[in-house]
Parts: sequence; structure tokens; C-alpha cells
Amino acid sequence: MNGIVIASANGAIGLEAAVDILRHGGSALDAVIAGARLVEANPEDHTVGYSGLPNLFGEVELDASVMDGRGLRAGSVGALKGYQDAADLARHVMDELPHVLIAGEGAKRLAAEIGMEPRDLLTPEAKAIWQERLDQPATAPNGHQTYLRKVREIVREAATDPEAARGEEIPHGTVNFIARDRTGDIACAVSTSGWAWKYPGRMGDSPVIGAGNYADNRWGAAACTGRGEMAQRCCTAHSVVTFMRFGMSLDEALTTAMTDLAHLDDPYKSEMNIVALDKEGNPGAASSSKDKTYVVMTEEMPAPEERPRLHVPIPGVG
Ligand code: ASP
Repeated sequence: MNGIVIASANGAIGLEAAVDILRHGGSALDAVIAGARLVEANPEDHTVGYSGLPNLFGEVELDASVMDGRGLRAGSVGALKGYQDAADLARHVMDELPHVLIAGEGAKRLAAEIGMEPRDLLTPEAKAIWQERLDQPATAPNGHQTYLRKVREIVREAATDPEAARGEEIPHGTVNFIARDRTGDIACAVSTSGWAWKYPGRMGDSPVIGAGNYADNRWGAAACTGRGEMAQRCCTAHSVVTFMRFGMSLDEALTTAMTDLAHLDDPYKSEMNIVALDKEGNPGAASSSKDKTYVVMTEEMPAPEERPRLHVPIPGVG
């Protein structure tokens, strides 16, 4: 059986490298990390890794996770500063520590210990997008208070209505990769700089196993992008896999997990997207927004293919 890799649309840039690993008999885990690394290094993607949009105080904080569907091994990092390869670091957490999730200073320490190259993740372009939203200087009389009030308003606005906060650039995003290799092993990697202007230390669904990422060889895998707090509260990635476990088709599982989100009491309810693979390696994806796509590439395909996502509206979310 030949391998397959799927990703959120912004993962197209890493898909061929990921499939190439499968073509050479490599593992699903190596494939998803290779794909994620290329997105994390892409200076044009302001939602993941290097050049990600920063938090309230202008610091880029990365979240990422990996899960190996054989034996349900998992690792993740949250609020990582100063290192770009967040998904690879999550793998080191999984392989080298008796833990699953390492955040903040601990994540940074581990990156240094394993010899990762530190990097200033904030690019001038990302800083300009961040700065543009802050029309009150921090140095005004009582400037600190004014600044804090303003950025909190911005956070609220960005969480309520992504379109309104968008300007020229989207305020949030994530990359999802799911692969199934020739041996039938499934793995998933998720990486993000999270919501721009987020409160420092805020972690979304991406580093939370079961929320933004879940993989189990026996039933399939799922990964999310969108408002992480919603996926955290509904354990969305785990739900999709569990629904397949209990007999639903991939599309039914995606639809049911999306529909569950409608029950959240959440004034900031907004877009949610899921990509998923069933245990046979069939791909699928859903979005609460119309006309969203994801990308698919098998070992037989010469190039990635962009496919439409199932549209599952969430009442109250545009
Ligand atoms: N899920 C990410 C987070 O909440 C952001 C996104 O995918 O848009 O941090």
C-alpha cells in the first residue's frame, strides 16, 4: 500500500517533501515533520514559525504537536520563543522526555540543549502588521495603561470577528499535516504562531493532544485550524477519530464534530476547520466557512492537489 499526505492549504509548500519521504520508504512521522519544517521556515506565512504574527507584546510564541498513531505516542511545545522548528522540537519532547507537553522557558531550554539554532522569529513584515493595529503608542502619558487597554480590545475584536481584524493580513492560522506510510502507520503534525495579539502565554488547540491533533492507527487521524479555544473545549480532533471508531464514515465524523461546536457558549465563536484521514488512508476535510480547501498528495501523484472542504456551517459563525 502506498503512502498519502494531506495538509491544510498553506501546507502545499511542504507536501512534496513529505511525500518524497514516503516514496523512499520513510515513516509517516518523518514525513509530517519534514512538511511542517518547510512551512515553519516560510517567511511569507505569518501564521506559522518564522515570521509568525506576535502576541500582545510583540513576541512571537509558537505552539506545535506531533502524534504517532502507532502506540499513541505524542509530544508538544507551547509558547515557544526564539526557535523556529516547533514541530521537530515537539518530536524531541515525545522521543526524549517522559512528558507530553513542555511550555515556555522549558521548551526553549530543550531547544538549546538539543542544539537547535536560535532565531529572531519576528520579521519586519510581521512586526509592521502587528504595529499597524496599535494606534496608541506605549509611551503616551499613562501610555502603558492605554496600550494595555488597546491591545486587549484588539484581542477581543480579533477573536470575535476575524474578518474585521484582518486588514490586509489574516490574524491567525495553523498548518496541519497528516500522513499514512507504506506500513499503515499514521502520524500528524500541527504547528502555529497562534492568534496574533494573543495574551502572552496563551496556548491554543495546536499543542493540546485531542484538541488540535489526534492520530490512532486503528481508526484514523484529525487536526484542526481555527479558534483553538473551541477545539480545546470539544476535544475536536479526538472526537473525529472516536466517531470513526464507533462506525461513522469520515464525512459523518467531520460533520458531527463540527456540529458539536455549535453548542458552545462562546462570545468569540469563530471559524473552525478540520482535516482528517480514515484508517484506510482516505482523506477528508471540513470547514465552517464556504469555499475552503485542503491539499492532498499520494505517492502516485506528480503534484499536490487542492480539494474542496465539506462546508458545515456553525450557527452564528460567518
Ligand atoms: N488554532 C490556532 C490557535 O487557536 C489558530 C488557527 O488555526 O487559526 O492558536
